[in-house]
Amino acid sequence: MKVPFLDLKLQYKELGAEVSRRFQHVFKTTSFVLGDEVEQFEHDFARYTGTEYCVALNSGTSALHLALLAHGIGEGDEVITVPNTFIATAEAISYTGAKPVFVDVDPDTLLMSPENLEKAITPQTRAIIPVHLFGQPCRIDAIREIADSKGIIVIEDACQAHGAEFSGKRVGSFGSCSVFSFYAGKNLGAYGEGGALVTDNEDIRRRVRALRDHGQTSKHQHEYIGYNYRMDGFQGAVLNVKLQWLDKWNKLRRQNADLYRKYLIDTPVKFVEEYPQAKGVYHLMVIRAQERDKLREFLNDMGVQTGIHYPVPIHLQQAYKFLGWNRGEYPNCEQACDEIISLPMYPELLQNQVQYVCHCIREFYKQQPEHEQLYEESDSKPRLEFAEA
Ligand SMILES: *Cc1c(COP(=O)(O)O)cnc(C)c1O
Repeated sequence: MKVPFLDLKLQYKELGAEVSRRFQHVFKTTSFVLGDEVEQFEHDFARYTGTEYCVALNSGTSALHLALLAHGIGEGDEVITVPNTFIATAEAISYTGAKPVFVDVDPDTLLMSPENLEKAITPQTRAIIPVHLFGQPCRIDAIREIADSKGIIVIEDACQAHGAEFSGKRVGSFGSCSVFSFYAGKNLGAYGEGGALVTDNEDIRRRVRALRDHGQTSKHQHEYIGYNYRMDGFQGAVLNVKLQWLDKWNKLRRQNADLYRKYLIDTPVKFVEEYPQAKGVYHLMVIRAQERDKLREFLNDMGVQTGIHYPVPIHLQQAYKFLGWNRGEYPNCEQACDEIISLPMYPELLQNQVQYVCHCIREFYKQQPEHEQLYEESDSKPRLEFAEA
């Protein structure tokens, strides 16, 4: 059996006809940049996230960049985030001239630890960017409380967490503003690049709308030195189709996550936990495994594609060497980097594919001498039945 890490073709089969219809509209109206499809999406995505405003952009990275700029963050400022995120979170901070400052994560959830956050705040701290990594909400209540008590803004990096909830409220609605990516492989993905910023703050919205369009506030009036960060009309059209499916897809992802948990019970693998108030959307299905690299190779030989998100933390990347961080600085994050493995996860993944992946993981540990006794015949493990596809 072959289990790809991600298969976007299955989704396209279901949506292709409707997407083509909406593309025809973009062709006919020639609204190739921004335009009515993008405006419709901004309206609907703000409602979806429970915020007042959405500004559509050309990537999540641009959204992070403008979120910081719109709050006036720049040289001399510090912005706190975590070292185990996609590098764009740190890059956006660097674009503004501010300094990224990292805090270690909670070892069970691999998300920003509010306790460590408190210790990292200095008089230069202007913003905190918690990352809802893997689609799992951070302890955004505790993070907000710390930030509010010090007058620091919170920008949620929700690039992997479209539709995830904390205490029954969707992520994106907790920060001063929040950012999303619609990169093709995300839970809500464009047919190319895309991103958005959502906020309740009218002034932030006004600035971000200007900054995405060369700083224009009205035709030929450039209030700021801005950027070309506008969303394409075609991406707006795709996102309008896909937004209607997002909740259903997220539900299927959660179901698949439950299956993984069920079929991997009693194995040496550990799961990345969710906080009790959180309802994650499993952008990635991440487990922690002993002998991670050997397991990965074994799975690959068995036809199961996996990933690692992310193998090298940002503080140890060549690009950030100049900031002088060393190994040992963020032990929870560093240890996780050596143990994590991302299993296949997407809404269309079939139950027998999940069973097959779990079967392969069991087979791997059976072959490891120290786990042999875990798998004796008399064991009452759930029986795995899967048909060859
Ligand atoms: C994808 C992602 C980004 C960047 O989004 P792009 O649209 O690829 O620019 C930022 N942060 C996180 C956590 C991401 O996963």
